[in-house]
Amino acid sequence: MSVSIMLFTSDLRVHDQPALRAAAAGADELVPLFVVDSGVRKARFDAPNRRAFLADCLASLDAGLHALGGRLVIRTGEVVEQVCRVVVESGARQVHLSAGVSAYAASREERLREALGPLRCALHVHDGVITALPPGRITPAGRDHYAVFTPYLRRWEAAGVRGTVAVPPAIRVPELAGHPLPRRSAVKDAAPAVAEGGEEEGRRRLRAWLRDTSAGIEAYAELHDDLAGDATSRLSPHLHFGTLSAAELVNRARAKGGPGAEAFVRQLAWRDFHHQVLAARPDASHADYRPRGDRWRRDEKEITAWKAGRTGCPIVDAAMRQLLHEGWMHNRGRLLAASYLTKTLSVDWRIGARHFLDHLVDGDIANNQLNWQWSAGTGTDTRPNRVLNPLAQARRHDPRGDYVRRWLPELADLEGPAVHEPWKLDGLERARLDYPDPLTTDR
Ligand code: FAD
Repeated sequence: MSVSIMLFTSDLRVHDQPALRAAAAGADELVPLFVVDSGVRKARFDAPNRRAFLADCLASLDAGLHALGGRLVIRTGEVVEQVCRVVVESGARQVHLSAGVSAYAASREERLREALGPLRCALHVHDGVITALPPGRITPAGRDHYAVFTPYLRRWEAAGVRGTVAVPPAIRVPELAGHPLPRRSAVKDAAPAVAEGGEEEGRRRLRAWLRDTSAGIEAYAELHDDLAGDATSRLSPHLHFGTLSAAELVNRARAKGGPGAEAFVRQLAWRDFHHQVLAARPDASHADYRPRGDRWRRDEKEITAWKAGRTGCPIVDAAMRQLLHEGWMHNRGRLLAASYLTKTLSVDWRIGARHFLDHLVDGDIANNQLNWQWSAGTGTDTRPNRVLNPLAQARRHDPRGDYVRRWLPELADLEGPAVHEPWKLDGLERARLDYPDPLTTDR
């Protein structure tokens, strides 16, 4: 009786899951394993909002495996140690894992390989599970990754994405002890309105996104920057936890066609782009991708006000309050909040990125750190000095001021776009307050 282990990480699904499919096909019995990894906590990556979403994902994955005749085995502790224990207990000869791009994923893979060798257990690492196109699949001549998005996009579009993989047929799980599934209700300090997680919910959202004609994929090209319209897919946490497959999303959007689908697929290419940068340059999670000299200042009062959504710049404050309430922020809000912190206040991007990672339910090392670097001018932007003027941006992307009024109740009775003017914090009394210079309008 041969046994294999499928070690789930950021790929918590049964649909379009090449690693699971291979693990199930390669042995008579399969252990679908998730380790609540103490290393993730040590790396300060287990924010409460993501823990809440993860609990839903694990419950949904367990239900998906039940439908195939199996179940999810949960263990808690250091991931390599736990996998080795399950290998010994089950007699497994193979461990299957999806390839990750972060330094943590690389070290996990290396440590697993070293530890499994003496147990005569093979490690199979599968590409193309977490991104639509595996990092390194396309490269410019003489380099290991693309540093600029536009040429990457051209090659990415021409390369094509793998076809969708079928759900494995019935699986058999050997008798093994496991810990109970973590419960969302046991997570403390999560934001009040963190979205529901899990594959079932992700697939429901995807169907709704593809069907909705007014605020779904069809309208995406026109509406994706409309802050109050909230007409983006909100699929980012599902992509982060892998409850939806990026390859499947690209294939289904392309099958739908039209300018909305094209614009949406382009965003998925941005995701792949950042992942291939991080895979080649894992230090970009903390070091400047393109160092431009240390020009940061650090004013604790300003940083605290930015985090709390109390800078006095309404569009930035609204975005920061959305983050605190939902653990999610509209992309335009992220761009404005990041530009304000790094370009207007000249605060180090690492401080902003840390705060986002502490709150974002889709908080992701590749997308977060590299978007922060892009905004700060230390990343892949070909115009690193670009500054987003918050007032001009607010007038363009929140023309009626509805987004600001939604998130800043203290300004809710101000009518029209006047709501965007800077406000003073003391006594909630509005007063003219100039934005620091120099500011230019862009994007
Ligand atoms: P949609 O507009 O529906 O886009 C579809 C998908 O494309 C997204 O779910 C996401 O996976 C991908 N995508 C969209 N925009 C980008 C982008 N600029 N870069 C990479 N992928 C993109 N995204 C994260 O997933 N995790 C993060 O931690 C994160 N941090 C960010 C920090 C800053 C400062 C900025 C400017 C952007 C950040 N983004 C991050 C990218 C983007 O803002 C979010 O992916 C997007 O807002 C998620 O909403 P959505 O699913 O409705 O996106």
